[in-house]
Amino acid sequence: MIPAPFDYEVAESVDHARELLGSREEAKALAGGHSLLPLLRLRVVRPSLLVDIGRIDGLSYARDAGSQLAIGALTRHHDIATSPIVQEHNPLVSYAAGLIGDPQVRHRGTIGGSLAHGDPASDLPAVMLALDAEIDVAGADGVRTVKADAFFRGAFETAVLPGELVTEIRVPKLSGEHIWSYLKFRRRAQDWATVGVVAVARRNGCVSEPAIALVSMGATPLRAPVAEAAWAAGDDPGAVADDGTDPPSDTNGTGEFRRHLAQVLVRRAVEQAGGDR
Ligand code: FAD
Repeated sequence: MIPAPFDYEVAESVDHARELLGSREEAKALAGGHSLLPLLRLRVVRPSLLVDIGRIDGLSYARDAGSQLAIGALTRHHDIATSPIVQEHNPLVSYAAGLIGDPQVRHRGTIGGSLAHGDPASDLPAVMLALDAEIDVAGADGVRTVKADAFFRGAFETAVLPGELVTEIRVPKLSGEHIWSYLKFRRRAQDWATVGVVAVARRNGCVSEPAIALVSMGATPLRAPVAEAAWAAGDDPGAVADDGTDPPSDTNGTGEFRRHLAQVLVRRAVEQAGGDR
């Protein structure tokens, strides 16, 4: 289908983008376009103005920020997957980015777009939740930092308000003590996850600070606190992996199938994280 008519403006800076986005109630930012354009074509969204943020300088980077790794909102999935600095300091993020869609999607899609879109089937939101990431959002009153656990509010609903822009994402650097895994079950290589599981923890004799996050098991990416406690206690986290979840039923699988998958994948993810790489 052809999108409903809209105006188009190119933003030259973050401030310019905020100004343009704030100028109309129905304005939307356009980054890689790989989630927004399909919605426009289906006329699920009908913005009166598209603000192209893709050409703003200085929002595509990955840099050392002390104990954290900072990633610019316009950094494309491919660049995250192949960035030496991300691979060195947080290989979980680069690995998960490399599993998104197909090469075309990874060369256009951005981390900021993926988080702001708030699709519970996307990979990076769950990774950010497991890592307790910080997300900078620029608005009329300046930049505020939102923790990942407060960022995802519902299906396709995030803490980003009209007129605001995600500018930077920060994740902790993983040390030699960290163990991690990301497992994504999908029918075809380029598909979204039917269920995905992120597992990360510290291991220094015993497992501490366990984090398990689930993709496609509810309206938002979800932490699995009961499974995390079981992992730390040396019990089977798979048996309780779907506690507190509300998985959807769709063409990829029923909710019941997803619950089963979550149990199997959490068990495997924890095993894989604990194994030698
Ligand atoms: P856009 O499509 O440009 O924007 C998406 C939404 O976010 C819009 O509402 C836009 O206004 C808003 N937005 C964008 N950037 C910002 C910003 N900086 N600040 C505030 N709001 C912003 N994703 C996965 O995780 N896993 C997959 O397996 C996967 N497979 C895919 C397969 C296909 C065929 C396609 C088309 C997409 C797939 N995706 C997948 C989604 C892909 O990762 C998208 O690129 C991503 O979700 C959105 O990023 P974008 O830069 O394209 O955002």
